[in-house]
Amino acid sequence: MPKVVGVLAVQGDFKEHIETLSEIEGVEARAVKTREQVAACDALVIPGGESTTIGKLMERFELDEPVRAMHEQGRPIWGTCAGMIILAKDIVDSDQWRLGLMDITVERNAFGRQVDSFEADLPVKGIEDGPVRAVFIRAPYVREVREECGVQVLATVEGKIVLCRQGNLLASAFHPELTDDRRVQRMFLDMIDED
Ligand code: GLN
Repeated sequence: MPKVVGVLAVQGDFKEHIETLSEIEGVEARAVKTREQVAACDALVIPGGESTTIGKLMERFELDEPVRAMHEQGRPIWGTCAGMIILAKDIVDSDQWRLGLMDITVERNAFGRQVDSFEADLPVKGIEDGPVRAVFIRAPYVREVREECGVQVLATVEGKIVLCRQGNLLASAFHPELTDDRRVQRMFLDMIDED
């Protein structure tokens, strides 16, 4: 049986996630935008894009309930960039809609508006065979993680947290779907088989 990975397809770069996940053997990656489609997945990716827009659309389509149910059942959820903002409990200076599942505080556009995008080689905890090339686009960062709630920091750049995990939740400030390296995707897919 393939692992069914839903990619939330309301806004943002969901196509790139579907393409890159589909390259991996044993994965069926699907665009999901209804409650039923979300509920039918083994794991979910919330892509990069514009977090206020993604939030508004999730609220309008009442997608938070099936996503919360996935979380409660331990199915993995990965937020990249805007998706990471949607997963966070706290967002600096913003009351925008969010799922608020992860015990982290994020700051939007955290690398400065003048630096629209940049790349970096990131050593990642749990990925031992060399650094991961990471693409940042108007990226947020994680200002604070609540370690007492089980949040683990997996990578930093310039001392800023850009990859972290809490149980079945993974959050990256960068875009692994925009490079040729699939090791972060594999790390996420391995979470499906964990208990
Ligand atoms: N800056 C965007 C936001 O706050 C996120 C950027 C991205 O997803 N590439 O929603």
